[in-house]
Amino acid sequence: MKITASTQLYAVLGNPVRQSLSPVLQNGWINEHGFDAVYTAITIKQENFETALLGLHQCGLMGANVTMPFKERAAAYAYALSERAAATSSVNCLTFHDSGFIGNSTDGDGFVADLDARAPNWREMSGTTLVIGAGGAARAILYALVDMGRTNIAVVNRDRKRADEAVSLHPADSVKSIDWSALSEHLSGASLVVNATSAGFKGQNDLSLDMSQTDPDCIIYDTIYAPKETLFLLDARQHRRRTLNGLGMLVGQGALAFEHWFGVRPDLMKGLARLEAELSS
Ligand code: NDP
Repeated sequence: MKITASTQLYAVLGNPVRQSLSPVLQNGWINEHGFDAVYTAITIKQENFETALLGLHQCGLMGANVTMPFKERAAAYAYALSERAAATSSVNCLTFHDSGFIGNSTDGDGFVADLDARAPNWREMSGTTLVIGAGGAARAILYALVDMGRTNIAVVNRDRKRADEAVSLHPADSVKSIDWSALSEHLSGASLVVNATSAGFKGQNDLSLDMSQTDPDCIIYDTIYAPKETLFLLDARQHRRRTLNGLGMLVGQGALAFEHWFGVRPDLMKGLARLEAELSS
């Protein structure tokens, strides 16, 4: 990679952000495609987010990803929002123009792109899709699933009210909410079970379910990728279920951001291989 005075700047903005894998992912694709651009990570203090965005725009930042805790604030600050971002009030991808930035939400579609890449037959599987969680990630996943015409989706969250709120944004014949206490009885009959909670992130409060209740061909997906294998996934693997961690969703959302900025969809599997190599180095 040759950086010159005309190299265009992209970044992931967050706090903390030093652990982010996005620079490895995006710079790999930038190199593969031969673009004169570079992607870095910028830590922004909580109180300075809007001021920093304004300054970065004035300095010529072309595009950015936004991560915790700024996704909602980025949505509020955008001059225009995609339909996805407006519906979820959350932005993880900014594309700068003269008057400011357009905010997109690529998390949900990144999840779908990952399933298409790593479990290509998932669309033909007719069982229930069980989404556990009702926070930002779960809502983005739900939106993408409903938008692609998926029906028979159940959402379950510790706080039932949040599950009801997430479900209320969608047609009742596609999505329903169920009570946390009924979670295990809904494992049977599901073709896809998604942990979209933060339970298990960095090994904390791991979500533990009785995976023997799931159907043998069920796909068990965890949006978490640190650790690489949560207890949720370990249990599923020990019951010989097909398991996928959230590294592919990270790659999928990054690929869609790259496409917004550079007009070309990069290779997801190469991106995934790069991150796996980075994590094992
Ligand atoms: P939010 O804070 O918006 O939501 C957190 C969710 O987790 C809520 O549904 C909450 O339930 C639930 N939860 C938290 N702790 C527990 C617990 N101990 N038991 C059961 N449920 C719990 O977070 P996000 O939606 O932004 O993120 C959720 C996960 O998704 C994170 O682990 C994050 O790493 C992952 N993620 C992965 C991405 C990827 O690219 N792979 C992208 C974005 C997110 P309640 O409402 O009851 O509190």
